[in-house]
Amino acid sequence: MSTHELEPTADWSQLYIDGEWCDASSDETIAVENPSKREAFTSVPAASEADVDAAYEAAEAAQPAWAETPRDERTEIVQNLRSQLNDHYDEITTLLATEAGTPSYRATAEFATATGDVEMALNLEAPDEEVRQSPSIPDKDNHVIYEPVGVVGIISPWNFPLHLSLRALAPAIALGNTVVLKPATDTPITGGLLIAKLCELAGVPDGVVNVVTGRGSAIGDRFVEHPAARVISFTGSTAVGKDVAGQAGRTLAQPALELGGNAPFIVTDEADLEKAARAGAFGSFFHQGQVCISINRHLVHESLYDEYVDLLVEHARSLTVGDPSEDDRVTFGPVQNEAQRDDLIEYVEATLEAGATLETGGDAEGLFVEPTVLSGCTNEMAAACNEHFGPIAPVIPFSDDQEALELANDTEYGLSAAIQCEDETRARELADGIDAGMVHINDQPINEDHNAPFGGVKQSGLGRYHGEWIVDELTEPKWISVQHDERDYLIFE
Ligand code: NAP
Repeated sequence: MSTHELEPTADWSQLYIDGEWCDASSDETIAVENPSKREAFTSVPAASEADVDAAYEAAEAAQPAWAETPRDERTEIVQNLRSQLNDHYDEITTLLATEAGTPSYRATAEFATATGDVEMALNLEAPDEEVRQSPSIPDKDNHVIYEPVGVVGIISPWNFPLHLSLRALAPAIALGNTVVLKPATDTPITGGLLIAKLCELAGVPDGVVNVVTGRGSAIGDRFVEHPAARVISFTGSTAVGKDVAGQAGRTLAQPALELGGNAPFIVTDEADLEKAARAGAFGSFFHQGQVCISINRHLVHESLYDEYVDLLVEHARSLTVGDPSEDDRVTFGPVQNEAQRDDLIEYVEATLEAGATLETGGDAEGLFVEPTVLSGCTNEMAAACNEHFGPIAPVIPFSDDQEALELANDTEYGLSAAIQCEDETRARELADGIDAGMVHINDQPINEDHNAPFGGVKQSGLGRYHGEWIVDELTEPKWISVQHDERDYLIFE
């Protein structure tokens, strides 16, 4: 396999284990489709449990030497990875458009966030060794050092494949861990094999990054329960994430879980209406709504309700729909797969049956689901209470802040939220009342900043990404004490 080819039609037929491109142990392959055309453009191997074992063995064998590698040498290699990303911008964004139906502006945004993941990893420092006197044992010094956890298993979803794989992989290797990565079956290249090629080009040592492509239903159990994995970094649905956490518990691997969301977007009577509607439309329709932190419910004060719905409809109709792999001007592409489309149409139909009004959209052609606005909604309707994960905007009225908060918090999820209110003191009181890991005032909920903790509460996950928070996930503190004067153990005469 040539590592220098990164086009959609390049050779993607092998797994990357221990620095080698190798055939999977079975001949089974998985077709990779362009969701706009609904045609396969290549195929990848369907790894077996034996391949998963081989990948973990390679990662486990490589980890001690990688952890011992001086920090500046590791940093140089991570810098090379950043350079490889930058050198291959065109190929990477083409792959995102082809494999993930990503409009050009969004591919650029994902590329920037992914390079930001690597940049952040370059700046991460496990805390220096801390030395403290023991307050409870006389003449003892406590040294606390931070060691890499060891091998990190990473499972990523299809909606931001490059970014969500690198978000865990880059800090893991920068901190001296080694990695086995399983990308989603819909995006095995941009979430996995592409990253392997870039790591190889960057000179990442053999075994430090290993990539296995294969269905979660076939290899997921072995992947999560492999005894070599010390952290399982899982980004995906809450249903699968809960099973993963249970399985990780069997080997006491630490689960780091970034799961589903149902973001409320509160538009108060003190919102700048036009600004709020633009933010609301972006938050619902960016990447066809396939973002864990996209707006799932628009909660709008009754005094602005009708005008807000009209503006949202106007914005929904103004999107340029098309095949992002053919046209850079497209701002709205297909959803990723048929199951996704079918769920979305069912949510819309059930919501209309429950009494909502269809303002625009509501239909699909191929995998192109129309940007959809539903008015007259309640929190109990299907498009509101489920994480719909698509371009559907149910709009729910409220009459005061207390009701807005009750509606916002009436969900099992707690990932992201946003509030539009020009009075920042009032907005802050609302933000404090929302049960979510992230709340954005006078913005919409799709935000990611490498200097801020990313993650959710309730059924949206465990742990946080970025900065010092990811250092906590990927290192173990170790206590070494030094007793300077002999202790009195009290049991001897
Ligand atoms: P998913 O079905 O849970 O899949 C996520 C990953 O888990 C895929 O790689 C999948 O592999 C794998 N998987 C499936 N079954 C498995 C099993 N039994 N054991 C181990 N791994 C298994 O989620 P998705 O549909 O790809 O992504 C959408 C979901 O992800 C949404 O709920 C969204 O909110 C969430 N998400 C959360 C964040 C966040 O940061 N909180 C970010 C993005 C997405 P296959 O593809 O082979 O099935």
